[in-house]
Amino acid sequence: MSNERKSTKGTSEKKKQCVKEAKVTNQFKKMMDEALEATKKVLEQRKKDLSEEGWNDDKQAEFYNIFGIHGNDIITVDSKEEREKVRKIRANDKFAEDLPPMDPYIELRADITAYTYMREGVDRLLLLCNKISVEIPLDISQRIHGNFVNQTDINDGSANVSGDQTLGLNPELYKNVLKINIQQNFVCKTLMGVDSKVSTLCHEFSHFFRSQDSKYGGLGTDDLPVSGGFSKSEPYSVNASSLKKSGSQDVFKNSYNIEKYFELIMA
Ligand SMILES: [Zn+2]
Repeated sequence: MSNERKSTKGTSEKKKQCVKEAKVTNQFKKMMDEALEATKKVLEQRKKDLSEEGWNDDKQAEFYNIFGIHGNDIITVDSKEEREKVRKIRANDKFAEDLPPMDPYIELRADITAYTYMREGVDRLLLLCNKISVEIPLDISQRIHGNFVNQTDINDGSANVSGDQTLGLNPELYKNVLKINIQQNFVCKTLMGVDSKVSTLCHEFSHFFRSQDSKYGGLGTDDLPVSGGFSKSEPYSVNASSLKKSGSQDVFKNSYNIEKYFELIMA
């Protein structure tokens, strides 16, 4: 949910030349249409990679490289016990009232593997992407462009969403209800790859809460650590790498780890 995604890597020549300028209506629509199309492409590829036929040795090794967890490891991060622990940590936080809400979903299946967790997650994200769109507002002074809010003129962040928008929401209403805020730093990101438009959108979509027995929504992720949050000395990216290195299952609850699965560059 943070809009403080400072780029620590992926700084390229291209990026230096890019001017972080506000995008007006038509430019904004063009930029977001491209970003959404590319996001669907990457998600489709991940769907293939996670299909029974696609899940080969290479894909399994890549999955482990990204998450630090094997595809066939059992995931318990959404169990009642684990969610209760997180709830307590949040409740005791100094800034408890300012914390973003927490996805209330409890996983009742005891045998969910990391592979299944991500396969189902990718299916939900793809469904979500196929329900939303970029639209030109009737009144061009409006910021709301379908599901995307043009904040490229006012805010130095990249993007943010409120994850609870999908809670109990019928997917047929995604088009009318979901809002994804897009800010200045998004403009200069490359389309695909590390810290790209695609990985940023996947990061944001992963924040959406699950609904209807986890059939719909995102992955209910947070920007970890929720307590303490972003600091220059210990940015989110550092925390994401240490979660991975230590083999923590929190990689599946952290948007900064999830986005790494969507850094593919495709033709
Ligand atoms: Zn976030």
